Amino acid sequence: MTQRMHDEAHGGALGSRLNWLRAAVLGANDGIVSTAGLVVGVAGATSDRTALLTAGLAGLLAGSMSMAVGEYVSVSTQRDSERAALALEKRELREQPQEELEELTALLERRGLSQEVAREAALQLTERDALRAHASVELGINPDELANPWHAAWASFLAFTVGALLPLLAIVLPPEGARLPVTVGSVLAALVVTGWASARLGAARPGRALVRNVVGGALAMGITYAAGSLLGAVGA
Ligand SMILES: [Zn+2]
Repeated sequence: MTQRMHDEAHGGALGSRLNWLRAAVLGANDGIVSTAGLVVGVAGATSDRTALLTAGLAGLLAGSMSMAVGEYVSVSTQRDSERAALALEKRELREQPQEELEELTALLERRGLSQEVAREAALQLTERDALRAHASVELGINPDELANPWHAAWASFLAFTVGALLPLLAIVLPPEGARLPVTVGSVLAALVVTGWASARLGAARPGRALVRNVVGGALAMGITYAAGSLLGAVGA
Protein backbone atom coordinates (compact mmCIF):
# COMPACT_ATOMS: atom_id res chain seq x y z
CA MET A 1 0.00 0.00 0.00
CA THR A 2 2.72 2.43 0.97
CA GLN A 3 4.73 1.51 -2.08
CA ARG A 4 1.74 2.05 -4.33
CA MET A 5 1.06 5.47 -2.86
CA HIS A 6 4.70 6.28 -3.21
CA ASP A 7 4.72 5.38 -6.88
CA GLU A 8 1.56 7.30 -7.58
CA ALA A 9 2.76 10.39 -5.82
CA HIS A 10 5.88 10.34 -7.93
CA GLY A 11 4.09 9.41 -11.15
CA GLY A 12 2.80 12.94 -11.62
CA ALA A 13 1.48 14.39 -14.85
CA LEU A 14 3.98 12.61 -17.07
CA GLY A 15 3.15 9.25 -15.51
CA SER A 16 -0.57 9.66 -16.06
CA ARG A 17 -0.06 10.90 -19.62
CA LEU A 18 1.99 7.79 -20.41
CA ASN A 19 -0.71 5.63 -18.86
CA TRP A 20 -3.32 7.25 -21.11
CA LEU A 21 -1.16 6.76 -24.15
CA ARG A 22 -0.57 3.14 -23.29
CA ALA A 23 -4.31 2.57 -22.73
CA ALA A 24 -4.96 4.10 -26.17
CA VAL A 25 -2.41 1.83 -27.83
CA LEU A 26 -3.86 -1.24 -26.13
CA GLY A 27 -7.39 -0.19 -27.12
CA ALA A 28 -6.31 0.19 -30.75
CA ASN A 29 -4.60 -3.20 -30.53
CA ASP A 30 -7.86 -4.77 -29.35
CA GLY A 31 -9.71 -3.16 -32.24
CA ILE A 32 -7.17 -4.47 -34.75
CA VAL A 33 -7.09 -8.05 -33.46
CA SER A 34 -10.79 -8.58 -32.87
CA THR A 35 -11.95 -6.95 -36.11
CA ALA A 36 -9.22 -8.69 -38.13
CA GLY A 37 -10.30 -12.04 -36.70
CA LEU A 38 -13.89 -11.25 -37.55
CA VAL A 39 -13.44 -10.11 -41.16
CA VAL A 40 -10.86 -12.78 -42.01
CA GLY A 41 -13.25 -15.40 -40.60
CA VAL A 42 -16.11 -14.12 -42.74
CA ALA A 43 -13.77 -13.95 -45.73
CA GLY A 44 -13.13 -17.67 -45.21
CA ALA A 45 -16.82 -18.33 -45.81
CA THR A 46 -17.79 -15.76 -48.44
CA SER A 47 -16.34 -13.30 -50.93
CA ASP A 48 -19.44 -11.09 -50.79
CA ARG A 49 -18.24 -7.56 -50.09
CA THR A 50 -21.49 -6.49 -48.40
CA ALA A 51 -21.24 -9.39 -45.98
CA LEU A 52 -17.64 -8.46 -45.18
CA LEU A 53 -18.52 -4.80 -44.69
CA THR A 54 -21.51 -5.65 -42.50
CA ALA A 55 -19.51 -8.03 -40.33
CA GLY A 56 -16.61 -5.60 -39.98
CA LEU A 57 -18.81 -2.63 -39.19
CA ALA A 58 -20.88 -4.58 -36.66
CA GLY A 59 -17.68 -5.82 -35.04
CA LEU A 60 -16.28 -2.28 -34.90
CA LEU A 61 -19.40 -0.85 -33.29
CA ALA A 62 -19.99 -3.73 -30.88
CA GLY A 63 -16.35 -3.75 -29.81
CA SER A 64 -15.95 -0.01 -29.36
CA MET A 65 -19.19 0.30 -27.40
CA SER A 66 -18.39 -2.61 -25.16
CA MET A 67 -14.95 -1.12 -24.48
CA ALA A 68 -16.53 2.25 -23.70
CA VAL A 69 -19.11 0.77 -21.33
CA GLY A 70 -16.51 -1.36 -19.58
CA GLU A 71 -14.23 1.63 -19.13
CA TYR A 72 -17.08 3.83 -17.93
CA VAL A 73 -18.09 1.31 -15.30
CA SER A 74 -14.56 0.67 -14.08
CA VAL A 75 -13.55 4.34 -13.89
CA SER A 76 -16.85 5.26 -12.19
CA THR A 77 -16.15 2.66 -9.55
CA GLN A 78 -12.65 3.99 -9.08
CA ARG A 79 -13.98 7.54 -8.74
CA ASP A 80 -16.61 6.43 -6.23
CA SER A 81 -14.00 4.79 -4.06
CA GLU A 82 -11.75 7.86 -4.30
CA ARG A 83 -14.65 10.07 -3.25
CA ALA A 84 -15.47 7.76 -0.37
CA ALA A 85 -11.84 7.81 0.77
CA LEU A 86 -11.83 11.62 0.64
CA ALA A 87 -15.08 11.82 2.63
CA LEU A 88 -13.65 9.52 5.27
CA GLU A 89 -10.46 11.57 5.40
CA LYS A 90 -12.51 14.75 5.84
CA ARG A 91 -14.39 13.23 8.76
CA GLU A 92 -11.21 12.01 10.42
CA LEU A 93 -9.66 15.44 10.07
CA ARG A 94 -12.70 16.96 11.76
CA GLU A 95 -13.07 14.39 14.52
CA GLN A 96 -9.47 13.57 15.39
CA PRO A 97 -7.18 16.33 14.09
CA GLN A 98 -4.36 15.41 16.47
CA GLU A 99 -4.15 11.79 15.31
CA GLU A 100 -4.28 12.97 11.72
CA LEU A 101 -1.41 15.37 12.26
CA GLU A 102 0.66 12.56 13.75
CA GLU A 103 -0.27 10.30 10.87
CA LEU A 104 0.84 12.89 8.32
CA THR A 105 4.08 13.45 10.25
CA ALA A 106 4.79 9.71 10.25
CA LEU A 107 4.07 9.43 6.53
CA LEU A 108 6.44 12.30 5.76
CA GLU A 109 9.10 10.77 7.98
CA ARG A 110 8.78 7.51 6.09
CA ARG A 111 9.54 9.47 2.93
CA GLY A 112 12.88 10.43 4.35
CA LEU A 113 12.33 13.61 6.34
CA SER A 114 13.80 13.90 9.82
CA GLN A 115 11.30 13.91 12.66
CA GLU A 116 11.59 17.63 13.26
CA VAL A 117 11.28 18.61 9.62
CA ALA A 118 8.41 16.16 9.09
CA ARG A 119 6.60 17.66 12.07
CA GLU A 120 7.09 21.18 10.76
CA ALA A 121 6.06 20.22 7.23
CA ALA A 122 2.96 18.43 8.52
CA LEU A 123 1.99 21.48 10.56
CA GLN A 124 2.35 23.82 7.59
CA LEU A 125 0.56 21.51 5.18
CA THR A 126 -2.28 21.04 7.66
CA GLU A 127 -2.61 24.75 8.15
CA ARG A 128 -2.76 25.47 4.44
CA ASP A 129 -5.05 22.67 3.27
CA ALA A 130 -5.24 19.61 5.48
CA LEU A 131 -7.51 17.58 3.20
CA ARG A 132 -5.36 18.18 0.12
CA ALA A 133 -2.24 17.20 2.05
CA HIS A 134 -3.78 13.95 3.29
CA ALA A 135 -5.27 13.19 -0.12
CA SER A 136 -1.89 13.58 -1.75
CA VAL A 137 0.45 12.07 0.83
CA GLU A 138 -1.81 9.37 2.23
CA LEU A 139 -4.13 8.43 -0.65
CA GLY A 140 -2.05 9.49 -3.65
CA ILE A 141 -4.95 11.39 -5.23
CA ASN A 142 -5.53 14.97 -6.28
CA PRO A 143 -9.06 16.00 -5.19
CA ASP A 144 -9.35 18.36 -8.20
CA GLU A 145 -8.43 15.72 -10.74
CA LEU A 146 -10.45 12.62 -9.99
CA ALA A 147 -10.66 10.24 -12.93
CA ASN A 148 -13.44 11.17 -15.35
CA PRO A 149 -15.49 8.16 -16.53
CA TRP A 150 -16.80 9.94 -19.65
CA HIS A 151 -13.30 10.85 -20.80
CA ALA A 152 -12.16 7.30 -20.25
CA ALA A 153 -15.17 5.90 -22.12
CA TRP A 154 -14.68 8.19 -25.12
CA ALA A 155 -10.97 7.54 -25.24
CA SER A 156 -11.38 3.77 -25.38
CA PHE A 157 -14.25 4.06 -27.89
CA LEU A 158 -12.00 6.10 -30.18
CA ALA A 159 -8.93 3.96 -29.69
CA PHE A 160 -10.80 0.75 -30.52
CA THR A 161 -12.46 2.38 -33.55
CA VAL A 162 -9.17 3.60 -34.98
CA GLY A 163 -7.68 0.12 -34.61
CA ALA A 164 -10.76 -1.62 -36.05
CA LEU A 165 -10.82 0.61 -39.15
CA LEU A 166 -7.55 -0.86 -40.40
CA PRO A 167 -8.69 -4.47 -40.98
CA LEU A 168 -12.15 -3.27 -42.02
CA LEU A 169 -10.78 -1.08 -44.83
CA ALA A 170 -8.12 -3.63 -45.73
CA ILE A 171 -10.73 -6.32 -46.34
CA VAL A 172 -13.31 -4.26 -48.27
CA LEU A 173 -11.20 -1.91 -50.40
CA PRO A 174 -8.78 -4.16 -52.37
CA PRO A 175 -9.96 -6.36 -55.26
CA GLU A 176 -11.10 -9.83 -54.26
CA GLY A 177 -7.83 -11.66 -54.90
CA ALA A 178 -5.77 -9.21 -52.86
CA ARG A 179 -8.08 -8.93 -49.84
CA LEU A 180 -6.56 -11.56 -47.59
CA PRO A 181 -2.89 -10.81 -48.25
CA VAL A 182 -3.46 -7.07 -47.81
CA THR A 183 -5.44 -7.58 -44.60
CA VAL A 184 -3.09 -10.12 -43.04
CA GLY A 185 -0.01 -8.12 -44.04
CA SER A 186 -1.25 -4.76 -42.80
CA VAL A 187 -2.64 -6.24 -39.58
CA LEU A 188 0.62 -7.99 -38.71
CA ALA A 189 2.58 -4.82 -39.49
CA ALA A 190 0.25 -2.77 -37.28
CA LEU A 191 0.61 -5.32 -34.47
CA VAL A 192 4.38 -4.91 -34.64
CA VAL A 193 3.89 -1.19 -34.07
CA THR A 194 1.33 -1.47 -31.25
CA GLY A 195 3.28 -4.28 -29.55
CA TRP A 196 6.45 -2.23 -29.67
CA ALA A 197 4.72 0.97 -28.50
CA SER A 198 2.85 -0.60 -25.60
CA ALA A 199 6.02 -2.28 -24.34
CA ARG A 200 8.00 0.95 -24.57
CA LEU A 201 5.28 2.95 -22.85
CA GLY A 202 5.10 0.31 -20.13
CA ALA A 203 8.88 0.53 -19.73
CA ALA A 204 9.30 -3.10 -20.76
CA ARG A 205 11.72 -4.44 -23.36
CA PRO A 206 9.85 -4.49 -26.66
CA GLY A 207 11.20 -7.72 -28.16
CA ARG A 208 9.05 -10.35 -26.49
CA ALA A 209 5.93 -8.22 -26.23
CA LEU A 210 6.15 -7.56 -29.95
CA VAL A 211 6.49 -11.23 -30.85
CA ARG A 212 3.63 -12.25 -28.52
CA ASN A 213 1.43 -9.57 -30.02
CA VAL A 214 2.10 -10.58 -33.61
CA VAL A 215 1.81 -14.32 -32.92
CA GLY A 216 -1.45 -13.72 -31.02
CA GLY A 217 -2.91 -11.74 -33.90
CA ALA A 218 -1.78 -14.32 -36.47
CA LEU A 219 -3.37 -17.11 -34.41
CA ALA A 220 -6.62 -15.19 -34.12
CA MET A 221 -6.83 -14.70 -37.88
CA GLY A 222 -5.73 -18.28 -38.63
CA ILE A 223 -8.35 -19.78 -36.33
CA THR A 224 -11.26 -17.64 -37.52
CA TYR A 225 -10.25 -18.17 -41.16
CA ALA A 226 -10.24 -21.94 -40.63
CA ALA A 227 -13.64 -21.78 -38.90
CA GLY A 228 -15.06 -19.55 -41.64
CA SER A 229 -13.71 -21.81 -44.39
CA LEU A 230 -15.25 -24.88 -42.73
CA LEU A 231 -18.63 -23.21 -42.43
CA GLY A 232 -18.39 -21.89 -45.98
CA ALA A 233 -17.59 -25.37 -47.29
CA VAL A 234 -20.44 -26.94 -45.33
CA GLY A 235 -22.87 -24.27 -46.51
CA ALA A 236 -21.82 -24.58 -50.15
ZN1 LIG B 1 -5.22 11.17 7.10
